[in-house]
Amino acid sequence: MADVKLDRVVKRFGELETIHGVDLDIESGSFVVFVGPSGCGKSTLLRMIAGLEEVTEGDVYIGGKCVTEAKASARGIGMVFQSYALYPHMTVRENMSFGLEVAGEPKEVIAARVSEAAEILKLGELLDRKPRQLSGGQRQRVAIGRTIVRQPKVFLFDEPLSNLDAELRVQMRIEITRLHERLGNTMIYVTHDQVEAMTMADTIVVLRDGAVEQVGTPLTLYHRPENRFVAGFIGSPK
Ligand code: ADP
Ligand code: MG
Repeated sequence: MADVKLDRVVKRFGELETIHGVDLDIESGSFVVFVGPSGCGKSTLLRMIAGLEEVTEGDVYIGGKCVTEAKASARGIGMVFQSYALYPHMTVRENMSFGLEVAGEPKEVIAARVSEAAEILKLGELLDRKPRQLSGGQRQRVAIGRTIVRQPKVFLFDEPLSNLDAELRVQMRIEITRLHERLGNTMIYVTHDQVEAMTMADTIVVLRDGAVEQVGTPLTLYHRPENRFVAGFIGSPK
């Protein structure tokens, strides 16, 4: 069953149409990467799935339910952004607990979920530090931890590694892939980086100018690109 489905989704900002009727079926438990040049509409699509941006036409389904009109908080999704947006005055533990406290979760539940996330993300030693006492990679882990503790059904990542240096990016790619193997939820990951797409995805969605050019596994896109744009973007010789 499709866990996330887009049905003829259109987005207009005023007169300007930036997403032109996108259809997409994302299978439960898959790791899907939206890839395409800057400005092609990756973030807008992700934000419409998250409920952070209104859909102009068409529908969004999550877990078989139409959520086009649903608030972001009711969609069961968790989103990790490029800018980590950690609270600077709070410790790592407080940053991870905060959302659950606001949601009124009991103290023991919060403590258990934070410990589990810290273990998964190797943050155990850092729980009492403030964000400024962390490296870029550690901050990004805390941002992911904050999402994990809420146990969303679907994870959305918007270029989460673009502020990291090359070496850390490679390491974090591996860590996010492991996280997916461990948690098994549906993950949708946006990047303009072809290497990230090729190394992390089960399924790649190639976008160009607000439309889907091709959907397929990394191998399919590499060996059987449907057009020159996909071939050029993915880097195969066609
Ligand atoms: P990407 O994430 O692939 O770089 P975006 O989804 O951010 O692309 O943007 C897609 C297009 O929509 C761009 O042309 C961008 O200028 C436009 N756009 C995005 N957000 C807004 C907005 N709030 N108002 C007007 N235009 C926007
Ligand atoms: Mg973007």
